[in-house]
Amino acid sequence: MTPPDKIEPLDLWYLEKFSENWGLSLRIKGGIHSAFSGLQRIDILETEEFGRLLLLDSAIMLTEKDEFTYHEMLVHVPLFTHPSPQRVLVIGGGDGGTLREVTRHPQVKEVTHVEIDEEVIRVSKEFFPQLSPGFYDPRVNLKVTDGIRFLKECSPKSYDIILVDSTDPKGPAEGLFTPQFYKDCHNALKEGGILTVQAGSPYFQQDLMARVHKAFRKLFPIARVYLSGVITYGGMWAFALGSKKYDPLQGPSRASKGLPLKYYTPHIHKGAFILPKYIEELLGL
Ligand code: SAM
Repeated sequence: MTPPDKIEPLDLWYLEKFSENWGLSLRIKGGIHSAFSGLQRIDILETEEFGRLLLLDSAIMLTEKDEFTYHEMLVHVPLFTHPSPQRVLVIGGGDGGTLREVTRHPQVKEVTHVEIDEEVIRVSKEFFPQLSPGFYDPRVNLKVTDGIRFLKECSPKSYDIILVDSTDPKGPAEGLFTPQFYKDCHNALKEGGILTVQAGSPYFQQDLMARVHKAFRKLFPIARVYLSGVITYGGMWAFALGSKKYDPLQGPSRASKGLPLKYYTPHIHKGAFILPKYIEELLGL
């Protein structure tokens, strides 16, 4: 057999299984980094079409191409609902995307970032510099500790906004999806405070989404679910928002025009709360 002139790269694919029967596959150019942090496995791969891909315990956290569809919506819906978001708490979000969006708001005076795994922050700074500017913002105060414990020990009425950018409810993130944790968040919010959390997939985590919304309804006078389209999370993605005073359905309280955003607009802000009928039914609306 004559050897080929050129060796073509192998046809490598990463498969994320959302369920036993359904998944998402990304063509991979190669591996960039793999390590075990002590808490979780961290992998960074280079994909053909979506830029770099971050995996924690073999679950997709983000790709460079579509991370804005998640981070902008987790952050700007609550921050533009609140007329004066000055003190913000971010739980999780070690990749930096959420911090990057929070620190775009000039009204924000102080951000406390509580991430349990310092190694996620380190590799994100190294391999995802475009997500990292928030780590260097002087308003940000990093605490490497468990978000569940942090909130238990938090002084009441400390924050205008709490954002929970967590992994799925497994391992260290399990307790971030409990009614007790949401109660601790409620206590840590000021009078007009808003809590927003990622609430899973309305396709394959329906119970989780409904459970989170139910817990929010018990705690907050205003409890809503809104959606974004996050293609590498399998399509639509849900966020739960609990507010003590300000209703996100009233729309943004300030203009977002000057910010370099790619997903969030005042129309999207309102439109994201319009839910398909099957989701309304799942939520008991
Ligand atoms: N947007 C992503 C998603 O939905 O797949 C989540 C991204 S972010 C990387 C999730 C972060 O939550 C991880 O860095 C993880 O270490 C952190 N985390 C998990 N449990 C935590 C806890 N109990 N306290 C603080 N951070 C936690």
